[in-house]
Amino acid sequence: MTGASTKAMLLVEPQRFTRTSFTLPDIPVGGWIAVEATGVSGADAQIWAGNNRFIKYPLILGHEIVGRVAKLVDDSFDIEIGTRVILEPAIHCGACRRCLSGLHSCRFRSPVNSYGRLPSTEPPALWGGFAEFVYLDPGARIHPVSDNVEAPVATFAHALADGFTWAVELPDLQAGDSILILGPGPRGLAALIAAKDVGAGWVGVAGLPDDADRLAMAKELGADMVVDDPDIADAVANSLGARPRVVLDVTRDDPEALHTSLDLVRSGGTVVVASSKGVRATNQLFSDIILLKELTIRGAFGASAGGYHWATKKIEADTRLDSLVSHEFPLAEADRAVQAAAGLFGHDELLTVAVTV
Ligand SMILES: [Zn+2]
Repeated sequence: MTGASTKAMLLVEPQRFTRTSFTLPDIPVGGWIAVEATGVSGADAQIWAGNNRFIKYPLILGHEIVGRVAKLVDDSFDIEIGTRVILEPAIHCGACRRCLSGLHSCRFRSPVNSYGRLPSTEPPALWGGFAEFVYLDPGARIHPVSDNVEAPVATFAHALADGFTWAVELPDLQAGDSILILGPGPRGLAALIAAKDVGAGWVGVAGLPDDADRLAMAKELGADMVVDDPDIADAVANSLGARPRVVLDVTRDDPEALHTSLDLVRSGGTVVVASSKGVRATNQLFSDIILLKELTIRGAFGASAGGYHWATKKIEADTRLDSLVSHEFPLAEADRAVQAAAGLFGHDELLTVAVTV
């Protein structure tokens, strides 16, 4: 395959894609994955808009990758060529302090060793899902997934893995527990599915008035309460009759959600902060609320291997998930895909977005 040409949509600067092609270079280790589909997340929209100050351009966007193993040049992976796999975004060098601590934000490469976030100036350039091929780094983790799941649907496994890690693993959610999810986007819906799967007693999902279709989907997926009113406290009190033990912030670009989380969570409870605020600051935070309520605050970045294991099984078994990808775009329309995911074309019928290659 070395020397073959691969098409890619290169984000040369914020809000400007160019169609380009790369020649596949010789690689000493790892392999190549032929991309089939890539999910588009709010984090991608933030990078596209130029609201992530850590990102260096140009880069190939897209970290929710599903594809087939096309070539392996060494024995880093014990898997057959042609196997369809879900590729975890986080790449682990295995030797840095963050990797040795079990974190998902390896800094072996800058700004973070992760698909869809590395600049294309970093060899071998192909680090994102908006391309025909993506480099399979030896430090990457892949999960085989059945050919019976359509590739765009399989991209939702990424959101599911995050949802399980953030809603279940980090706050140690137990059967009978209560969790309020702020934000009904793909990861909010995924967190709901994960929480219900472990037997949570009460799951609430809060959104905005323009989130009607996503909140309707949340109801369909078993939410005990959905609310599109900024005054969430009343709705939670009426439905749960108490404060939730866990609040998960998966809002889009909303620095005020931290206030809501700290206000609404039960004393002794856990707040999981999983949404990036980009360049925006949270104002007027009186931190005494954290100590007076004896809260645990967890920052969530990426998913665990356990989250991916659960997600891969779930996407194969739960046919309700087939309807969660509402928008599909071909690779050449990557800009429209990102704008759709950002809600720039409206939120009606918007659930999740995938680019197919
Ligand atoms: Zn590392």
